[in-house]
Amino acid sequence: MTITIQVGELEKKIASLFTAVGSSNEEANQVASNLVLANLSGHDSHGVGMAPRYVDAVLEKNLTPNARVQTRIDTGTLLGLDGQYGFGQNVGVQAMEMAFERVHKHGSCIMSLSNAHHLGRIGHYAEMAVENHWISIHFVSVNSRPIVAPYGGGDGRFGTNPCCIGIPVGVGSSAREPFILDFATSRVAQGKMRVAHNEGKSVEPGTLIDENGRPTNNPGVVVVPQSNGKMGALMPFGQYKGFGLAVACELLGGALSGGGTWHRQADSRRAVLNSMLTIVIDPKRLGTEVSFASETTEFIDWLKSSPDAPDTAGVKLAGEPERQKRAERRKNGIPIDAATWQEIIDSGKKVGVAI
Ligand code: NAD
Repeated sequence: MTITIQVGELEKKIASLFTAVGSSNEEANQVASNLVLANLSGHDSHGVGMAPRYVDAVLEKNLTPNARVQTRIDTGTLLGLDGQYGFGQNVGVQAMEMAFERVHKHGSCIMSLSNAHHLGRIGHYAEMAVENHWISIHFVSVNSRPIVAPYGGGDGRFGTNPCCIGIPVGVGSSAREPFILDFATSRVAQGKMRVAHNEGKSVEPGTLIDENGRPTNNPGVVVVPQSNGKMGALMPFGQYKGFGLAVACELLGGALSGGGTWHRQADSRRAVLNSMLTIVIDPKRLGTEVSFASETTEFIDWLKSSPDAPDTAGVKLAGEPERQKRAERRKNGIPIDAATWQEIIDSGKKVGVAI
């Protein structure tokens, strides 16, 4: 069973969970609207279903409400920040805004952010940059549970390490919607397995291995401990190529930022920590503004003019599915599966909030 709820009402209910654990109204609204935007975009895995986990992370003292990022180093174009275990949706936005000040001055910024709690949908930060007509590249490590198996390996060793690239297309009257490529380097996001498990669905072959390292279609292997007490694992996308990108995210997002890499067994902590290397570039300052604008539009128009392959919706640009879903869900409301909704209600009870 699924309930459908309108955006404003959902944001209010979810924000009330965060104020109950100590967030200011401003932070609670910011985190709630970020999660709801993920649902709106069709990424339910990174939507309000994460809220109970955030509440648990605050209660276990691994997530600090109302944190401010701390500057480790600032050389102008190089900015090293620490998220102080704050809500990613808050410290992530603070970090991007600090990077933007440097881009205004210098034309680019390489910013690393360590020790943020879950940053949510990474595309959110690229969308902030493309609003300014800037390019934004993100390599992110996930410090939570070793849930993804290395290519050729038989158990989970690292997280779903997302990678994201945002590129503005055209400029002024020739501007098109931006390219926002934003994905987990696991074949699917872990949260999508939680949603599939809650909905009793099985998943495509090649997505998962079970607790004994064997292929399985059962998403439950990465959601609940299995008969031998162990968990299964997700596979990286694109075989060794996706695996290589996942390792790059761990090394750039985790090791370079100071947030650290994962190299230990799973524990029972509910907190999900993210560290991120971000590169923001103002194309104007590379001296190719005019050709960049025309080449991006011409190439995208060329791609789009490819005839639809049979039984497909035709060529889409990364970012387009999310924009389409937003339009649809803003109108019709956000569907939430019953198990996720019950978890939100139970989380409210834990902190004295009637959802
Ligand atoms: P996904 O597999 O749905 O892929 C999404 C990307 O593919 C988007 O850029 C989308 O526009 C593009 N896309 C989808 N269909 C397309 C089509 N037909 N043609 C062209 N492009 C298309 O995403 P995912 O891997 O499930 O990740 C979902 C979200 O989870 C992302 O926002 C990611 O940042 C987030 N995530 C966050 C964390 C974290 O720790 N914070 C970890 C993993 C994932």
